[in-house]
Amino acid sequence: MTTFANLKIYNTRTRQIETFKPLNGNRVFMFVCGPTVYDYSHVGHARVFIFFDVVARWLRKLGYSLFYIVNITDVDDKIINRARDEKIHPLELARTYERYFMEDMISLNVTSPNLYARASDYINEIFDQIRVLIDKGHAYVTPTGVYFDITSFEDYGKLSGRDPSELVKHRIEPDPSKRNPGDFALWRVRPREEFGWESPWGFGRPGWHIEDTAITLRHFGPQYDIHGGAVELIFPHHEAEVAQAESYTGVKPFVNFWIHVGLLTVQGEKMSKSLGNYVTIREAVSKYGANALRLYILQTHYRSPIDFSWEGLESAYKSASRIETSVNRLQQLNIVNATTPSEDELTLVKKAEDVWSRFADAMNNDLNTAQALSAYFELISQVNDYTNKYDYISAEGYGKVWAVVKEINEVLGLKFELTSSDELIKNLIELIVNVRGELRKRRLWDLSDGIRDSLKRLGIELQDTATGTKWVLRRTAKQP
Ligand SMILES: [Zn+2]
Repeated sequence: MTTFANLKIYNTRTRQIETFKPLNGNRVFMFVCGPTVYDYSHVGHARVFIFFDVVARWLRKLGYSLFYIVNITDVDDKIINRARDEKIHPLELARTYERYFMEDMISLNVTSPNLYARASDYINEIFDQIRVLIDKGHAYVTPTGVYFDITSFEDYGKLSGRDPSELVKHRIEPDPSKRNPGDFALWRVRPREEFGWESPWGFGRPGWHIEDTAITLRHFGPQYDIHGGAVELIFPHHEAEVAQAESYTGVKPFVNFWIHVGLLTVQGEKMSKSLGNYVTIREAVSKYGANALRLYILQTHYRSPIDFSWEGLESAYKSASRIETSVNRLQQLNIVNATTPSEDELTLVKKAEDVWSRFADAMNNDLNTAQALSAYFELISQVNDYTNKYDYISAEGYGKVWAVVKEINEVLGLKFELTSSDELIKNLIELIVNVRGELRKRRLWDLSDGIRDSLKRLGIELQDTATGTKWVLRRTAKQP
């Protein structure tokens, strides 16, 4: 539809906005840190997965062949502790919350990952990495486990921009057997009655950082294009990943583009389980729907913080309803052939073309979804004005406007439009609207108002306009 300018992205590694270019031809490999599955995910997590879902959709729209992996941390102390409390096996707990996470992703219309990779499926790769890191002198064995010696990797601290001499002293996991307080665990020896694996370094479990590099080395090789995650993961998690992978392979940089999403806070504090100030994805979606939550997240630039409030989500819900109304009305226009388009139609088509190019520019400008959305709202208003005045449009004009609306909804992952499976519903609504029209002609207001109110309870909103009755099928039905 339009020729795309270069995609530019802020790269945490270089601390500047750079033109994105895949390492290998048209192929893009992207990895995003996934959930530790011991509890329900909250809207802070939703921010990360919604944003990278849009990144993935945009990369594919630009014509890249994207392979996108999200990992599932199913081996972790939090899982073990909670499973112990509930007297079930840790993997049973992990599978249960993994299933809830998948349900949340489906409810949010997050459909872009090609693979959700469980840490527990990559134990062999983890063993191999640890073995090589020990052989190369980057890791050492103690009675409590295997640790990465951060003084053996000269770039440690580069990604997060921290002073290496400070990091050596930075105590990550207190353990007297470590060479430096800042060394991190690759393998942790644990009592045999806990959940774990036999390894050459004792029974136990892998450290958290090594699962990501095990997964990406397996699927992407020594180097890949994009690693994403929440900003608070830069140190130590992502710093540790760079140290592991570059020490293992000798190839730099391990990841070309590091993309980090800003915090989601509640009254200035991080949303977290431990602070008890969290809102689960399922609660937010059941109240306002996925479209509203997606708009709420995307209306702020991904690198800026979001301070969550229900009022903010409520207002995003109203924005979602506006889009829904316009999209539904656009789909109800009668398509007429062989007419000279009206001035208003030509203006609408011109607006659509202009909005699409500004939308694309905003997305290419460091994935600025906030700007992209404000362009989209201009088109939505114009569609609304047009459908207030007309009940028809030319086939050519419709095709052009609809293409833009459809593309934008696809990129943002918004679902408003009536699909072909809605045909029967659409025909039934039209039938009821016509019957109600007859009742209105006979001034049977009680009956016609009764029909309108009953439909509203079913999520079908009727609007009597100068050009006849229009309707909206509300997908994001809000629970009062
Ligand atoms: Zn991770």
